Amino acid sequence: MIYKNKTMNEKDIHDILDQVQTDHLFMENRVCRVCGVEKSLLADFYKCRKDHTLRSSYSYECKECAKTRVLENYYNDSVGTCDICGSIDTKLKDNICKSCNRALKEFGNNIDTLQKAVLYLERNK
Ligand SMILES: [Zn+2]
Ligand SMILES: [Zn+2]
Repeated sequence: MIYKNKTMNEKDIHDILDQVQTDHLFMENRVCRVCGVEKSLLADFYKCRKDHTLRSSYSYECKECAKTRVLENYYNDSVGTCDICGSIDTKLKDNICKSCNRALKEFGNNIDTLQKAVLYLERNK
């Protein structure tokens, strides 16, 4: 893999890039830090800074890996065991499942009402 600007310092690169814009980046590849695959810098990496003329403005993980990471985080946050009813591998919002969320909403998230509901249920067992 060849880095065209390897011997230049940041300022030199900046001066040149001001003129040539992103043209020089079209042929550039980057090895993704996550999957280790060499991909096209412009096509396969997300920009993470405003200045799109700099190599350093592009992410060190490819778009595929970025998507995978975001999705994994999303699912980690929202799938699990419900704190109230204990159903497992269920979609969660604030640690409780959809049904429990709905139930709480029906009770207006009112602790007093819910406690009375518990007493009612115990009385009528
Ligand atoms: Zn990757
Ligand atoms: Zn639940």
